[in-house]
Amino acid sequence: MGAITLLPSAHRDNGWYELLPEEPLAAPLSGTVEADVVVVGAGFTGLAAARRLGELRPDAQIRLVEAGRIGNGAAGRSSGFAIDHAHNVRSEGFASTEEFERQQIELNRSGLAYLEEAVSTHNINCDWSWSGKTHAACTVRGVADLKHFAKTLDRIDEPYEVLDNDAMADRLGINYYRRGVHTPGTALMQPAALCRGLAGNMPANVAVHEESPVTWMDAGPPHELWTDEGTVRTPEVLLANNGYLTGFGYYRRHLIPVITWGSMTRQLTDDEAATIGGPLTWGVIPSAPSGTTVRRLPDDRILVRNVYSYSRHSLAGGRKRDRAGRSHRRAFEARFPTLTHVSFEYTWGGPLSMARNGEPVFGKLKDGVYAACVHNGTGLSRGTICGKLIAEMMCGMDSGLLEAMIGRGRPNRNAPDPILGWGVDLYAQRLRLRSGREM
Ligand SMILES: Cc1cc2nc3c(=O)[nH]c(=O)nc-3n(C[C@H](O)[C@H](O)[C@H](O)COP(=O)(O)OP(=O)(O)OC[C@H]3O[C@@H](n4cnc5c(N)ncnc54)[C@H](O)[C@@H]3O)c2cc1C
Repeated sequence: MGAITLLPSAHRDNGWYELLPEEPLAAPLSGTVEADVVVVGAGFTGLAAARRLGELRPDAQIRLVEAGRIGNGAAGRSSGFAIDHAHNVRSEGFASTEEFERQQIELNRSGLAYLEEAVSTHNINCDWSWSGKTHAACTVRGVADLKHFAKTLDRIDEPYEVLDNDAMADRLGINYYRRGVHTPGTALMQPAALCRGLAGNMPANVAVHEESPVTWMDAGPPHELWTDEGTVRTPEVLLANNGYLTGFGYYRRHLIPVITWGSMTRQLTDDEAATIGGPLTWGVIPSAPSGTTVRRLPDDRILVRNVYSYSRHSLAGGRKRDRAGRSHRRAFEARFPTLTHVSFEYTWGGPLSMARNGEPVFGKLKDGVYAACVHNGTGLSRGTICGKLIAEMMCGMDSGLLEAMIGRGRPNRNAPDPILGWGVDLYAQRLRLRSGREM
């Protein structure tokens, strides 16, 4: 190993993060220091892993090292759905075998429980609510997909509620969707506030270092990790840095880096909010995989997310961001015709990493180097449980859930660039066209 070839960087454009009060930096890594374990990356995976390591090894010095500000990476740029089921109702893998799917749901629910435990123990102020998620359709194809989804839920004995056009209008306060399937087991929250709250309530033996990108690693053990201002020597490293794992030389040809975008309106006035009625907060997931996710937020803003594209770089700006903003605008105005004059205050992109076969990177990579990466769009719950389980694995523990993760496959290999990028963008374009009004 040597220079880290892919590093994250992020604009100050993320609405969730910008709405938080300013906080001082958690001490960047500086000087030459020792650690028993270094966790690289403070998204949901790294935050859960550091917490669990701190709990299980109270005498060890754990260091959590994050390239940017906590809450301004992908985790804090997400739409804030901590999901218990598969995200995509059309996904072929969803309930292809009941046993497998029940296990996946158990994994996600354990992640949710670990998050909720921290939120309630430390009173983390992140608008956490068990609002569930509503899968919504406004096209004939979307309605058919939801029927298929409901049948699948029946097969695995999962509760849900079917909502017709009127019930959707009552539930959401807008008249756009023809049908919905509501499932209760998803939590919604302000994701950047949750990340910050988790980082601020670590066990006493976990040191958190922000703005400390690891730019060089000399592999051992002991391993030496270098940042701009410091060096840390450690027998064990956990890479919880999602797609940036490739920058450390692992799975370069296996991960698919994409960017997706979100926009958030300014706060509605009381009169504007009154035009949409409905409860104060809800979350809609589109029936089409490339459709628009929508949230009504407790502080009377609306969030929309859509558009994917291939990108090996974490910066999402320029024309791509403008295009995403226009797509968000169309989706917003179609759903909220009484609010077409309401502007977006923020539009941002965020990186995620996918695998073509949906498999994660989980386990030991080499002597003293572990990784828990690639959660295919459900990283809030899945990243959390993977972070917790990898910490338990590093401490020699055993459990059914850990076995389940160890038994998973690994991401399969892709075509090289630029063919991979063309393929992903073409696929995304096809999905967009098929989505029609679900966009
Ligand atoms: C717009 C958007 C909406 C989304 N909505 C949802 C949603 O509603 N629900 C859901 O479950 N998922 C959602 N996702 C996906 C979710 O954000 C990811 O699955 C999740 O963040 C993965 O968590 P992670 O901790 O594994 O990785 P990340 O959150 O990507 O965290 C990895 C961290 O590693 C750091 N890092 C990388 N390299 C280095 C280095 N060399 N040195 C130090 N630090 C480094 C990065 O800065 C980053 O903070 C969304 C993503 C986006 C972009």
